[in-house]
Amino acid sequence: MTTPLSRRAALKGLGAFGVAAALPTAARAATSDTPPTAADHHTVSAHTFAVGGATVTVIRDAGFVLPLSAVGTNVAPEAVTALLESHGLPTDGVPTDVSVLLIRAGEETVLVDTGTGGGDLMGTMRALGIAPEAVTRVAISHFHGDHIGGLAPGGTPAFPNASVHFPAPEMAFLDAAAGDNEGASAAKAALQSASNVQTYADGDELVPGFTAVAAHGHTPGHMAFVLASGEARLMIVSDAVAHPAAFFAHPEWLFGFDMDAQAATTRRQLLGRAADERVHLFASHMPFPGIGRVGRDGGGFRFTPAPYAA
Ligand SMILES: [Zn+2]
Repeated sequence: MTTPLSRRAALKGLGAFGVAAALPTAARAATSDTPPTAADHHTVSAHTFAVGGATVTVIRDAGFVLPLSAVGTNVAPEAVTALLESHGLPTDGVPTDVSVLLIRAGEETVLVDTGTGGGDLMGTMRALGIAPEAVTRVAISHFHGDHIGGLAPGGTPAFPNASVHFPAPEMAFLDAAAGDNEGASAAKAALQSASNVQTYADGDELVPGFTAVAAHGHTPGHMAFVLASGEARLMIVSDAVAHPAAFFAHPEWLFGFDMDAQAATTRRQLLGRAADERVHLFASHMPFPGIGRVGRDGGGFRFTPAPYAA
């Protein structure tokens, strides 16, 4: 019998999500003899909408194709294939976007995660007329390279005027794991290169209306956020839900990069809250722009894309 652990271990060849596996298309092209294609050129994928008085922009930084096992390490591969087939999705890989959020509210410009460091984020910000110097805060959800890789690529802070907010429990993990864990070492180096790093914890309001919510399991200190403005709410679940078909219907399935089975409990709690409070939800790896509504459906949930009003 294949245990969840051994199947998860099989994914290890990819490295921590976004570290070894996260080479953006352009970087991959540069290391191969294959001529660049249209997909290797910079693309601008940005989607802007209002959450009350805040202006939120989703920016697509990169995309990967993950193995099928990434959307269910604790279930039979046939169950994953059957689910994908039932949604008309490819069964030879799982196309996965990497998106970040830019929130503008009052005097604050808050970037939620920084992408891979080699993707389209900086070019897209330039295209939108948003200078990196204008970012006042960077809120990092967890240490994986597809979320912190853009903080200080090459050791140079990408957002020189921003204070950087990193989860306190994740910092404790990095302190213990750096040296043994390539991703943790890289994250620690990025944080050391950035200036004005602060830690935050569950319930902390990083800026008015933008509050951290503990969502541990995917990583030891993984965080979600709630953006509230007037009556409007956007729940930002980071990597707690990473696929629109698999993890809404089956919150108990584990994502290939979930470090602990607690991720499943966290996922069910966050989705239940999003459904009961009827808020919009954003997740980093959903098909761009990854904004939608959540409803209860049998023992699980259902996602409906709803990107235009929050
Ligand atoms: Zn991620």
